[in-house]
Parts: sequence; C-alpha cells; structure tokens
Amino acid sequence: MRADLHSHTTASDGALTPSELVLRAGNAQIDLLAITDHDTIDGLAEAHRAAQGSRLRVINGIEFSCSWEGFEIHVVGLDFDVSADALLELIAAQTATRIDRAARIADRLSRCGVEQPLANAQRLARNGAITRAHFARVLLEQGKVATMEAAFKKYLRKGKRAYVAPGWCEISEAVSAINAAGGVAVLAHPMAYQLSKKWLRQLVEQFALAGGQAIEVAQPQHLPNDRKRLAELANEYNLSASAGSDFHRPDSWAELGRNIQLPEHVSPVWNLFSSRE
Ligand code: AMP
Ligand code: MN
Ligand code: MN
Ligand code: MN
Repeated sequence: MRADLHSHTTASDGALTPSELVLRAGNAQIDLLAITDHDTIDGLAEAHRAAQGSRLRVINGIEFSCSWEGFEIHVVGLDFDVSADALLELIAAQTATRIDRAARIADRLSRCGVEQPLANAQRLARNGAITRAHFARVLLEQGKVATMEAAFKKYLRKGKRAYVAPGWCEISEAVSAINAAGGVAVLAHPMAYQLSKKWLRQLVEQFALAGGQAIEVAQPQHLPNDRKRLAELANEYNLSASAGSDFHRPDSWAELGRNIQLPEHVSPVWNLFSSRE
C-alpha cells in the first residue's frame, strides 16, 4: 500500500490545484491520498472528481490548527463525512478565526512598511484560506526577506513583529468534531513542535485521552530514531500510525509519497477507514 495522508492544495497554502495534486499522486503510484488543507475542506470535491476512473483513492482530509499549552498543534482529520454538522461548525469557526487573524497580522506588517499586506495575501491565496505562508510570500515579493524561512524567523513566528496569538480551537474540540463526522483524528507531525521528551509524551497522552485515534509516525524529514520513537509512543498509547509527506509544492523538500514508509509493528491508520467514497 502506497499512502500519503497529509498534503496541501490551493484551497490553503499548497501550490497545486486539487486536480494537479491528484495527477501528481497518480504519477507517483500512490494508492491512497488524503488532502488535508488548513482548516478547510474546499479542495475535496474537485479532488474526488479528478480521481474518478483512476486507481487512486482520495480520502477526505483536513488539518485543524489547535491551541495547546501555548503551542500551536495540528490535528489531521481523515475519512470523515463532509456534510456532518459538527465538522462544518468547527470549520466555520476556524475560518472566522483565520480571517480575523489575517487582518491583525496585516496591520502589524503595515506598520513594518509592507505595502497592502492583506490585499496581497488575498491575491496569493486566491479564494483559499489565508495562512502565514501567504504573508511570508508577500514579504518575499516586496524584498523584505530573502527566504520564506527568514520571513517566519523575522516576522511571523511566535514573539516576532507580526505574530498574532491565534484563537484556535482546543485539541479536544477538533478530535470531537472529526469523530462526530465518523472520521479518524490524527496528531500531525509530532516532531515538528520541538517539544522535550516529557512534553511530547504529555501531548500524545492528552491527544489519546481526548479520543484521538492515530499519530503521524512517518514523515520525510524524520531521522530514523524519530520514527522508532513515534512508533513506540503510538503502540504505548494504543494509537494507529499514519504516514504523510505534508506536501505543499514541488521542490526539493518533500515529494508526494516519498520516504514515508511506516515502520514494522505499528497499526496502519488506513485499517480504520470505512469504505465510504
Ligand atoms: P498558519 O496555519 O496560517 O499559521 O500557517 C502555517 C503554515 O506556514 C504552515 O502550515 C507551513 O506551511 C508554513 N510554515 C510554517 N513555518 C514555516 C517556515 N519556517 N518556513 C516556511 N513555511 C513555514
Ligand atoms: Mn501549510
Ligand atoms: Mn501542520
Ligand atoms: Mn500540513
């Protein structure tokens, strides 16, 4: 089974449209592809249409931004019913939070001499969700920084000039909404939060207590030890294991489906998927 269960499209901060992403996944011989845009499911219908008649199965997905103990933690939802009220209500609330945060980030960037930050971010996001990645691109375009990384380091990261504390939902709210929609809740990229061993364990434990079913165990950026450690944590807390590239755009960082093999002795998250199409 070749699965990639974490990816982005133009519905949030990915560079490819849902159709382009599905085509790329098909070329990469992927069997199962989840599209997990930030706090939106707007790319899913197009992706399903694009996959019709191919061997690729598109799994409904989303990546919720959550607040936890002062950290921004991401919870991926997989294989849910897109018409469930609880899910749609949470998406609506998160979208409102995102729009409000974007206006506040833009205010701060204006004060740093950035021209029309909101209009420019909206142009880059087209009709999709506005993320900090779009503001980072505006900073690049206007020559305020030389790289995306520098945009985050200088302006957008916690504590920096244009950072706005977000009002994201709690982890338990994201898990409940996903579960109420018949989906599987997955703790996204646990190594990306740079938590100490003790805090990482706390996070996994609380995620499991909140009703979460899986954690991402395989990601392209991982060192071999990371994967082993996450597999142990998954098994210890009775969580299934997911695999995802977090693909955003064709570049040298990550490719769809590449280097995300699950280790042995874990329970693959796709065993929990229903046959819902
Ligand atoms: P947001 O969800 O609006 O806070 O935006 C976060 C998104 O920005 C992430 O999903 C990444 O795609 C992107 N991002 C975060 N940190 C960096 C970074 N250091 N360099 C490039 N992109 C980043
Ligand atoms: Mn992103
Ligand atoms: Mn994420
Ligand atoms: Mn992601």
